Amino acid sequence: MSTRDKATQEALDTIISNMRARNPQADGDLVLLAYDFAAEAHKGQVRMTGEPYIIHPLATALTLSEMNMDEATVIAGLLHDVPEDTTYTVEDIRKNFGDEVAGLTSGIVKLGKIKYRGIERYVENLRKMFVAMAEDIRVVFIKFADRLHNLRTLGALPREKQLRIATESIEIYAAIANRLGMWQIKSELEDEAFKYLHPEDYATVKSYVDIDLEKKKEIIKKVPLFIKKKLEQEAVNAVRIESRHKRLWSLYQKWLEHEKDVSKIYDILALRIIVKTIPDCYAALGIVHQHYKPLKGRIKDYIANPKPNGYRSLHTTVFCERHVVEFQIRTEAIDREVEYGISSNTRWHYKEKGGNMGKVDRRLAWVKDLPKFAAIADHETYLRSLKIEALQNRIFVFTPKGDVIELPEGSTPIDFAYHLHTHIGNSCVGAKVNDVLVPVATALMSGDVVEIVLDKNRTLPSSDWLKFVKTTTARSKIKGILKRRNVLHRLSSLLGRS
Ligand code: MN
Repeated sequence: MSTRDKATQEALDTIISNMRARNPQADGDLVLLAYDFAAEAHKGQVRMTGEPYIIHPLATALTLSEMNMDEATVIAGLLHDVPEDTTYTVEDIRKNFGDEVAGLTSGIVKLGKIKYRGIERYVENLRKMFVAMAEDIRVVFIKFADRLHNLRTLGALPREKQLRIATESIEIYAAIANRLGMWQIKSELEDEAFKYLHPEDYATVKSYVDIDLEKKKEIIKKVPLFIKKKLEQEAVNAVRIESRHKRLWSLYQKWLEHEKDVSKIYDILALRIIVKTIPDCYAALGIVHQHYKPLKGRIKDYIANPKPNGYRSLHTTVFCERHVVEFQIRTEAIDREVEYGISSNTRWHYKEKGGNMGKVDRRLAWVKDLPKFAAIADHETYLRSLKIEALQNRIFVFTPKGDVIELPEGSTPIDFAYHLHTHIGNSCVGAKVNDVLVPVATALMSGDVVEIVLDKNRTLPSSDWLKFVKTTTARSKIKGILKRRNVLHRLSSLLGRS
């Protein structure tokens, strides 16, 4: 048994208490055992920062416990670099910590260290990651936590490496976190990466936040107390009111959209009202408007119409003591979902019941399609399908009967038609979106009711469709049918019957 210094013991205590908040029966001794095992295995190793190596797995496990992960995942976080970087193996981990933890660490080993060495190597590594994700999604949670600590200690690496890791963190890791609805970890990855990607813009954007917070100091102090009192008077069940500033990377994106004119951005500071129920949300919105005049066209009901990534809240921008302030209103349950995403949901073990996805969160359903992408041989096509189909936001559209169809953002009626059935796709001559005839290349929006106009005499797709379809399903069906038709053509001309 190794001796643990005070800071280490404190970190371990925090990890254990985070785990117990989720599961009062969490095994604290096992956490200590895993730490000692990892510390022994990594003994003598140092990171680029000069710190002992064990700091890294400890930080990884701490993040995982903050993400509300289960016991096996947190313990695997402590052990995640043991099989690759030390003389101990996955079998040693299995003997000491059981099959589940060993399975997770071997998932991490299979991923290998993702290193950018030309597109081939890069795509191979991505494939591995997505296959591992489909096997056990918890492996990617460990990668998130691992990556976050690596980003936080990126300063010690050469500039070229910093840029590569930062870019990949935003393009791949944060994109996956977004698809999983894990906005907390998504924003942390983005903001840490931003620092290295565009250091000057980072400093500029950060100064905007500091200036705004200073300007609105009084508002932050007084308004939440005032609103809280009003909510109580009207018997609205308020849980808490907090202030928060916009995340730096998302502020940066908005700033670029507005041609670097920060005066057009109203939501640097937001006051967040957390209430008990959905009706409380609307009641709270009414109370805010009663006391502060809303800006026209700035009331957004993402509860009735969630954003494509699933985000829900009521937003309104108001004049408040000579300043412009955004209010965000949501329930406690929605707030928790926003913080933790699917990780607060324990039902991600879809492997347990013979690959049965039945009970899994709908936001995870796309993960089971990931191995399908791995079969795409061409690297460029693979990357494109992944970025468009797997990592992009989703829209939800309806059939005339009211069935919900989930498609990648930017999908067209042709994608919709092939999603329903190959024959419907082949015979599609047009579409009615919300009862209006539209061209087949039109991008659908969440909430659209889509009716495909069919011509029974038409049995072949148009090769033009390949220019705008978004889904791999539509693309591969159209290509397959056209290819077969060409072969038949050639056959019949060979046979002299054309
Ligand atoms: Mn690591």
